[in-house]
Amino acid sequence: MIIVTRPHIADHDLDRIREYIESRGLRTHVSQGDERTVVGCVGDVQSLDPDAIRALAGVADVLRVSKPYRLAALEFVARPTLVSIGDARGTTFGGSEIVVAAGPCSVESREMILESAHAVSAAGARMLRGGAFKPRSSPYAFQGLGAEGLELLAEARAATGLPVVSEVLDPRQVELVSEYVDMLQIGARNMQNFALLAEVGRVRRPVLLKRGLSATIAELLLAAEHIMAQGNSQVVLCERGIRTFETATRNTLDVAAVAVLKRETHLPVIVDPSHAAGRTDLVAPLAFAAIAAGADGLIIETHPNPAMARSDGDQSLTLPSFTSLMKLLAPFAAAAGRTIASPTPENAHVVAGVAS
Ligand code: PEP
Ligand code: MN
Repeated sequence: MIIVTRPHIADHDLDRIREYIESRGLRTHVSQGDERTVVGCVGDVQSLDPDAIRALAGVADVLRVSKPYRLAALEFVARPTLVSIGDARGTTFGGSEIVVAAGPCSVESREMILESAHAVSAAGARMLRGGAFKPRSSPYAFQGLGAEGLELLAEARAATGLPVVSEVLDPRQVELVSEYVDMLQIGARNMQNFALLAEVGRVRRPVLLKRGLSATIAELLLAAEHIMAQGNSQVVLCERGIRTFETATRNTLDVAAVAVLKRETHLPVIVDPSHAAGRTDLVAPLAFAAIAAGADGLIIETHPNPAMARSDGDQSLTLPSFTSLMKLLAPFAAAAGRTIASPTPENAHVVAGVAS
């Protein structure tokens, strides 16, 4: 249930509304907009009498949420959620800037992660991605460098100032990974690992939640709800392609999901064109489509030498290709009324060095 207040409600009226709801054993979640405030009620809402609430001072309307998710529902808040990464530059998902995270599928060595970090930073990326713990379909494939990979990511962050996003596979790793990364990634294969979702809900780190390979949009939002129900509302959703009958691409990018999510939730939504496409030549057009559909950001795989990559080389852009892509994205961002960081002139020598 959602209580919408009258414009500019007095603090004591808001307190009275909260006390009324909480005294009946429910939790309240207050979201302040420029004019109105929304009080979300979580718990046994059937026990509440909407007419009695409407009679409280400052209440404009009482609405029942018909969706299975509440905290993640757009109606639940007065304004879209901004997810700030907490870095010096103030990187924020859900604002006017389209945030691009880029880097390798896996952290493979000190040299490659540093080279990647410098190049994607110079190209305009705001975050560095890189898996230290890798979920691989085969138990014989490279599983990531583990804790050493986290150390290398921290070194790359220190060298470039880029905040880092990396995947956590197991509830027992959450504490360790949180010490090193700025954003915890929940991979597609773990979208419904409820113990893991609860654990990342308990830490104060933003979460990048990727859509499961065969998950519906409602299931993705319920997975976000699991995280939010533990107290962490800093969740960014990621459409990364779903399993369909199509074999021309690794997955099918569900562009419509972006538009649907923007209507269903206040959480930022980003797109991973790399895992959707599975091949480098489709990364750019899928990234354009994502921005046109309203995505708040992109996460893109790059590699200094894709042919030698230990995972996902087929879909990883070379560093010069990524730099070119960043330039191509600018007009799409502008057409969508957004901005995107362009390659930094002061770092042009880094890009030139990488390209040569
Ligand atoms: C990844 O980001 O490298 C990854 C494994 O992605 P997904 O969980 O979407 O397959
Ligand atoms: Mn990958």
